[in-house]
Amino acid sequence: MFKALVLKKQDDADASVSVDDLNISDLPEGDVLVKVSFSTINYKDALAITSSSPIIKNYPMVPGIDFAGVVEESNNDSFKTGDKVILNGFGVGEKYWGGLAQKARVKGEWLVKLPEKLTEKQAMAIGTAGYTAMLCVLALEKQGVTPDKGEILVTGASGGVGSVAISLLSKLGYEVCASSGREEFKDYINSLGAKKIINRSELSEKSRPLGKEIWAGAIDSVGSHTLANICASTKYGGVVAACGLAQGFDFPSTVMPFILRAVSLLGVDSVYHSIEGRKEAWMRLEKDLNLEHLTKMTQVISLDDVDQVAKNMLENKTFGRIVVDVNL
Ligand code: NDP
Repeated sequence: MFKALVLKKQDDADASVSVDDLNISDLPEGDVLVKVSFSTINYKDALAITSSSPIIKNYPMVPGIDFAGVVEESNNDSFKTGDKVILNGFGVGEKYWGGLAQKARVKGEWLVKLPEKLTEKQAMAIGTAGYTAMLCVLALEKQGVTPDKGEILVTGASGGVGSVAISLLSKLGYEVCASSGREEFKDYINSLGAKKIINRSELSEKSRPLGKEIWAGAIDSVGSHTLANICASTKYGGVVAACGLAQGFDFPSTVMPFILRAVSLLGVDSVYHSIEGRKEAWMRLEKDLNLEHLTKMTQVISLDDVDQVAKNMLENKTFGRIVVDVNL
């Protein structure tokens, strides 16, 4: 038997959330069985667990888009018993049973090996949010946004993607301007390496087609008017990596920043990103992430706490990263 968070749904009511005892035989098919050590709560998990958005494709569902753990059984040539592995996305916790459980059975092709210098707990402190932040940094780098080009804006600064993005960029020598709606996290955001903080209200109202040229690049996890304002205030030839929708999924912009200032808007998706790209991102996280910052941005909870913390996250009452110790 093992413990798992289970979402069950009847008719049109919101899904119920409970921590249940399951049998190994209840797990779905897959060629690798993993003893999960840690999972996390990302924004998408919070939407799924609270039934706030149609993330879950079938019920009953074990949510959790991330996990790190140890291989217990493998029929996949790339993995053997005892290997430490990470899973991010691939529809796990949405279409397939996920990481908020003590065991998971998945396809080996979705797994990457845990980088040697990271623990399973650190990997989940990074989680999908941090791995996505790294994908955004890589996207800027690949478009030639080097530290000498100017200031980089990071929105949703006190959240998971934002916190890791600020820490990574500052260690890589970029000057970071953070946008946050929460005054109480000013010291925290500064301590991750942001040189300047602006209030998110400066970006959240309807945008003009073009504004003053300010940023050489941006990592945006907020979307909506914020993303439109960012594009309008990005310097000539600048690059904006867009990965989130914390303000909204709309994008009320014009083509002006793109056709008059050659601004590039890059979409970043973590869920179906290639295995090669994942390995590159995890290798860079191992090398470039300040682990003291990671500790500072991480809180650890148990499976029993997940339901409440998911609600808190959608009410913007959490910060940084939430790790779930599934064995607590
Ligand atoms: P968090 O909840 O940890 O952080 C989101 C942050 O956004 C908050 O901390 C807050 O920062 C800010 N925010 C919240 N509400 C609003 C609002 N109404 N308007 C403007 N800003 C707001 O979530 P994550 O960091 O885990 O995820 C952030 C976004 O990125 C989500 O939309 C998520 O779905 C998306 N995402 C996408 C991925 C992909 O593959 N494309 C992967 C991972 C995440 P502050 O209080 O400092 O302003």
